[in-house]
Amino acid sequence: MKTKHCPYCGSSVIEERYRGHFHKFDASHGPFDFDVCQDCGAGFCNPMPSPEQLRFFYANYESGMPEEYRHAMNESEESSWHTQIAKDLVRLARIHNLPEGFAWMDIGAGAGEIACQLQTLLPRSAGTCLDLHEPPEGVSKKGISWMSGDINGNFSQDIPKRFNLVYASAVLEHVISPRDLITNCLALTDRGGLLYMFCPDYSSLASKVMGTRWPYYLPGEHLTLPTVGAIHRCLESIRDSGRVGIASVTVRRKRISYAMRYMLFALGLHSVRRYLPFDFSLKFPTGCLELIVKKA
Ligand SMILES: [Zn+2]
Repeated sequence: MKTKHCPYCGSSVIEERYRGHFHKFDASHGPFDFDVCQDCGAGFCNPMPSPEQLRFFYANYESGMPEEYRHAMNESEESSWHTQIAKDLVRLARIHNLPEGFAWMDIGAGAGEIACQLQTLLPRSAGTCLDLHEPPEGVSKKGISWMSGDINGNFSQDIPKRFNLVYASAVLEHVISPRDLITNCLALTDRGGLLYMFCPDYSSLASKVMGTRWPYYLPGEHLTLPTVGAIHRCLESIRDSGRVGIASVTVRRKRISYAMRYMLFALGLHSVRRYLPFDFSLKFPTGCLELIVKKA
């Protein structure tokens, strides 16, 4: 059923943007309509795919990502955005004086790429991952705990532990209710701890210039596409609910390091990619943002 309210700010001023689009790599997934909130600028599938549709779609995925995508990404693991996010998390932990050997949680961990890198960079820290599937081999080998569960819904209720750092990288855009995801992540964050999220920015220049060719426009997979304003308004309403104490909020645009081969793959330039003599990474203004919340 179609929603009349923006999943980020709750506004009912919604405009139809695209009609009847199918997923770019799985032509059987769809059709989907895509609407845009006129108040905060967020875009979203309307109606959302059904739980059955999502189950069927992800059943064809290996650890939450199409296999050919993961292959293109693994070709350049060292220069990948996973490595950049892991290093950024270490920097963030230092800036905010998180205790030595602190506890962290990776929400929607996928194949555990960031988690494994973070554990390598911070061997004394205690990591836990949450995602729908069984733990990937690499994660278990690193001694990282794994919880299998759905990140849609009130998953924090079943987790008694609190963490100094909770992060969800490239996850917010995949869930039906971004507000519920942020609320649950904050519930798992310890007092004085940090929540970090990285996701596409629908207010970015890249999204405006590229339109439906923007790689993050993936109908039926990226269920919502937030903007800097949408995240701010979502957090304001969570703060106003009085259930979570928030000390500070930072939402800012972020350039992310992508390997050239992966980038050409994502843009569908397969023939150019085949002839690239060697790989290298660049920080592309692909249109992403990061959210850093310090809990009171
Ligand atoms: Zn909105």
